[in-house]
Amino acid sequence: MKAAPFDYVAPDSIEAAVDHLARGGGESVVLAGGQTLMPLLALRMATPSVVVDINRIAELSGVSRLDGATRVGATTRQATILTDPTIAAHAPTLAQAVRNVGHHQTRNRGTVGGSVSLGEPAAELPATALALEAMIETRSPRGTRRIAAGDFYTGPYSTVLEPDELVVALHYPDLPANTLTLVHEVARRPGDFALTGFIGAFTVDGGAISRARISWLAMGPTPMRSPKAEAALVGQRVGQIDLDEIGRLAASETDPMDDGHASADYRRTAGARIFRRAVGQALETR
Ligand SMILES: Cc1cc2nc3c(=O)[nH]c(=O)nc-3n(C[C@H](O)[C@H](O)[C@H](O)COP(=O)(O)OP(=O)(O)OC[C@H]3O[C@@H](n4cnc5c(N)ncnc54)[C@H](O)[C@@H]3O)c2cc1C
Repeated sequence: MKAAPFDYVAPDSIEAAVDHLARGGGESVVLAGGQTLMPLLALRMATPSVVVDINRIAELSGVSRLDGATRVGATTRQATILTDPTIAAHAPTLAQAVRNVGHHQTRNRGTVGGSVSLGEPAAELPATALALEAMIETRSPRGTRRIAAGDFYTGPYSTVLEPDELVVALHYPDLPANTLTLVHEVARRPGDFALTGFIGAFTVDGGAISRARISWLAMGPTPMRSPKAEAALVGQRVGQIDLDEIGRLAASETDPMDDGHASADYRRTAGARIFRRAVGQALETR
């Protein structure tokens, strides 16, 4: 099958891109890495009237430091995250997560902003944005806004983005000193979407957990935090934590679904187990 006809524009500024989106009246779509959009067009599951290719907008790409955070431009390729020295120094959790995103070929084209905008519930980068409390910078004809990752997702493939709003960058705040981050998932084969997985960020001060962030992928309609488990961890001394109980509590706060890949029960059980094992092993070294 071939894509339905559409107009193609490739502006070289954010303003022009947003203008094209606004003029499309909800019928325009952004093209970033195209790893999801191109198949959707080819299958006619997406039939926009205008495709706005943002790859020629130089200011959308690259990694920099800004106000105690690492800023990742929307069209920064996922492969870049694996080798970028600023990411390695200040936001290595992102590289840990990207290692699990698809394959070399898809990472060479797929973008950070594309993955975050798409809102696939089993994707690593949205769950990472949630665990790291990233801010999502957007631009529309109404100006710039910064949206907390926790307020961004409203359902599967559904976000608070308006049709004329472009994700411009992600801002990942620096984590407190002594923070250990973990990315673990279960997938049938390397490169497959996860059946369950979590991103954890645990700060250890004086032998006790002082801050905990847990975010799940493939465990609900959106990436999900486990606020009760996070609160239960705070104040606990490393080595004395009942990780079976915390893992079960954390997984019980999710809302996984049954589908052809795995049952909800499997996702909860396997999720709790990888949590217990991974967090236990990581804390042993502290
Ligand atoms: C074989 C295969 C395996 C994959 N495996 C995984 C995996 O294991 N884990 C995973 O997380 N992902 C996986 N993916 C998804 C892929 O890695 C990309 O992250 C994903 O397709 C979106 O990124 P993209 O840059 O290609 O976006 P595109 O396909 O260009 O766009 C995706 C959607 O986001 C919108 N969009 C893109 N950029 C912006 C922006 N800046 N502002 C507003 N809207 C925007 C588009 O309009 C479109 O609706 C896989 C893809 C393939 C083809």
